[in-house]
Amino acid sequence: MSDDSCIKCTKVVRPRQEAIQCEKCSGWQHRTCNTGISRDQYREAVRESTQIEWVCQDCTEASEVLRFIDRRLPEDISLDGFVADFEAGLWQALKQRFPRYAIQGCAFHWSQAVFRKVQEHGLQTAYNQKDSVYTFLRQLMALRSCRQSTSLILSSS
Ligand SMILES: [Zn+2]
Ligand SMILES: [Zn+2]
Repeated sequence: MSDDSCIKCTKVVRPRQEAIQCEKCSGWQHRTCNTGISRDQYREAVRESTQIEWVCQDCTEASEVLRFIDRRLPEDISLDGFVADFEAGLWQALKQRFPRYAIQGCAFHWSQAVFRKVQEHGLQTAYNQKDSVYTFLRQLMALRSCRQSTSLILSSS
């Protein structure tokens, strides 16, 4: 998903459309795509140039799930870190609750995410020819195995 598309409907958020930014994942959502913010609330916030405090559904769910698990964990749990799907909301929630632990992307979801991009950009034919494009993309998919480079990629996205 590109930065200018709506979290909910994935369509581009155009400059003149009413949209709200999630406080946690910084993603944008059309006001009318189920944000729960009325037109009047939105207009008023714009008029008074105040920020609407809003958290998207994914982020809300991620923190709720985390709180639920958290309550059931023993006090003195020892963790090595986390392996998680590439879900901005979940990462944000994990970082907030367990700031000291490293989060690693899940290999399966990483390859899946890369492959989705391959299809999105019409590179599938080139990929299937198992030539240079294929080699490059396979290397990209393998990046996840190197801790350092994965965090670089994630932080630059
Ligand atoms: Zn939308
Ligand atoms: Zn969010």
